[in-house]
Amino acid sequence: MRFEEIKDMKVAIYLRKSQHDIDREKRNAIFATVEDTLHKHRRELLDFAREHRLQFTEDDIYSEVVSAEYILSRPQARKLIEAVRDEKYQGVVIIAPDRLTRGGKADQGLIEDAFKESGTLIITPSQVYDLDNEEDQFQLGFKNYISHLELNSITKRLQMGRVRSTREGKDVSSKPPYGYQKNSYMKLIPNPDEAQIVQEIFNRFVKGETMTEIANDLTRRGIPTPSDAEEWHLPSLRRILRREKYKGIQVFGERQTTRKSETGKYALRKRINQNRFIKVQDTHEPLITAEDWSKAQILLDIAAKTYNRKRLSNPFKDVLICSKCGKPISVSRKKGQSAKYYCRTKNCPTSQIVEDRLIEHMINYVTIYIEEKRRRKEIGMDVGESIEIGEKVIKSLKSEDSYQDKNDLIKTLVTEIKYTKDPLWRRDYVELLPSYRF
Ligand SMILES: [Zn+2]
Repeated sequence: MRFEEIKDMKVAIYLRKSQHDIDREKRNAIFATVEDTLHKHRRELLDFAREHRLQFTEDDIYSEVVSAEYILSRPQARKLIEAVRDEKYQGVVIIAPDRLTRGGKADQGLIEDAFKESGTLIITPSQVYDLDNEEDQFQLGFKNYISHLELNSITKRLQMGRVRSTREGKDVSSKPPYGYQKNSYMKLIPNPDEAQIVQEIFNRFVKGETMTEIANDLTRRGIPTPSDAEEWHLPSLRRILRREKYKGIQVFGERQTTRKSETGKYALRKRINQNRFIKVQDTHEPLITAEDWSKAQILLDIAAKTYNRKRLSNPFKDVLICSKCGKPISVSRKKGQSAKYYCRTKNCPTSQIVEDRLIEHMINYVTIYIEEKRRRKEIGMDVGESIEIGEKVIKSLKSEDSYQDKNDLIKTLVTEIKYTKDPLWRRDYVELLPSYRF
């Protein structure tokens, strides 16, 4: 299709960074020329759209801040695909096709269908793609995917097989739950070492020890976590304490790891459709009595409530201040919206920033910091524990750790940055963003 044909079309503009863009930004940041890819793309696409007299308003610009792996976990993409399905646009303008076509196979099907059925074009500054055209489809890479109808039936068949196996008391999870191993009939049998740890965790928890105490003790004793890490964190303890399989019950479909969350940070574990949920009693040797298990659930619920009340809502508390007026940075968390950080001072010229973006900046900054320190270390300089602390901060920022835990680590790092007198890293403060600094 030629560009003349798209003149005056009603279009949407979709902006999203690719992993390549993110990596490049990180590299550029080292030379202090942080270039915002989204801004650059926005300018390019707007110029292109004006040049071809495309019709759009500010509302038709979908700009993604999260970089989730799955297209449909990106809130803006989801909104856009819905609008495409509703035939709101004649075309969607993107910088390169991979901004829409990269993702899981199920996403692929949905996106392909939305564009095909509505007859919406995919427009890039170098080419216009029409999904009714086989050649264009092939170029977009859609041809390489199984049609999603076919995919659905495969998934369904697999699912049926797994349901049948569960009924027979077999464990269909890809990895047996911590504490167990599978025998050749796919049934669970206790793994002696791990089973002992599971029992210890339950015993101590129902006797009143906190998860933090238990986690710290396991870490201190050098017991590897279920994922073979050194440090025990609350999420993995919680998962163990919530697992019904320890009662000797085989469960299928109780919780399923779904897509990444709205913020793109965590995998969500959701209860799925009740009629696809199966429980079979007495399928294997229990590690925990039903009484202890129930007691643990009550204690977990209480712990969750207390935790929510005491929860620190700002992981950057006492760390970031406004670069204009020096006031501490505030956060606002509203249901259904991304958290926003801002300066409370009336008429302060600094602008607010969404949490994901702030975290992204922080991770970029710490990454560069670690790289600098590594370079120092390579030439024999003493860098103390700075690399380890930096790595912990990044890991924590990417994890489900509580804000309090994140805050503690960031504070340690900032103290370290402020007080080490590395002559090659001499900055009184670090400009994280135009608006905030340490
Ligand atoms: Zn301010």
